[in-house]
Amino acid sequence: MSPNNSSPYQGGVGGGSFVSANPSTPPRLPLVRGGSGSVDPTLLSKTANRLRLQVIEMVARGKSCHIGSCLSAMDLLVCCYATAPGLVAQRWTDPDRDHFLLSKGHAAAALYTVLAEFGYYPAERLQEYLRDGSPFIGHTNVHGIPGVEFSTGSLGHGLPVANGLALAAKRVGNSSRAFVVLSEGDCEEGSTWEAALFAAHHTLDNLVALVDHNKIQNYGNVADVL
Ligand SMILES: [Mg+2]
Repeated sequence: MSPNNSSPYQGGVGGGSFVSANPSTPPRLPLVRGGSGSVDPTLLSKTANRLRLQVIEMVARGKSCHIGSCLSAMDLLVCCYATAPGLVAQRWTDPDRDHFLLSKGHAAAALYTVLAEFGYYPAERLQEYLRDGSPFIGHTNVHGIPGVEFSTGSLGHGLPVANGLALAAKRVGNSSRAFVVLSEGDCEEGSTWEAALFAAHHTLDNLVALVDHNKIQNYGNVADVL
């Protein structure tokens, strides 16, 4: 559907305009095998591992942190973008697109590499990560980065916002889905619990909430922290 359609739902809260990674080459499409609905697990795994190397280089270059969170989340991120036709870059301004929220915003470097991989912007832009004045900051930033729906970093915000996107889509009758990746720290936030109750109450069957269960959080093992 055209982004200029008459739907009252303008889809998402994201910023940044889509820029083709390379206009001379076909747009990247989901890695789903034609018609089968399945994805090649080997290709998915290889893609995730290649992007993990990119993240390590980016984070090391920026003398930053949160490498573990980026590495553990990568399979989930790649799987979402590889299998959801509504997340292709060419639909970024489509109000009926699917939405993706990285609630564990400290894993921003992982999302930035995935968005580049799937054609939201040229991979060369990853060189901007953590440079002065760059929108590619250490937590997901909605300003000026195509594909980023919402700025996150403070935990507990992703699921509530995804709820709103999913409910809005259902209210206007479009097929948009809302994906959200949460951390264990997210799951300790009261707002996340309230959002889970809200999602169940409204039967948000177009909401896909994924928890990156890596067994660690900020200062240690989850079992020791809380
Ligand atoms: Mg964790």
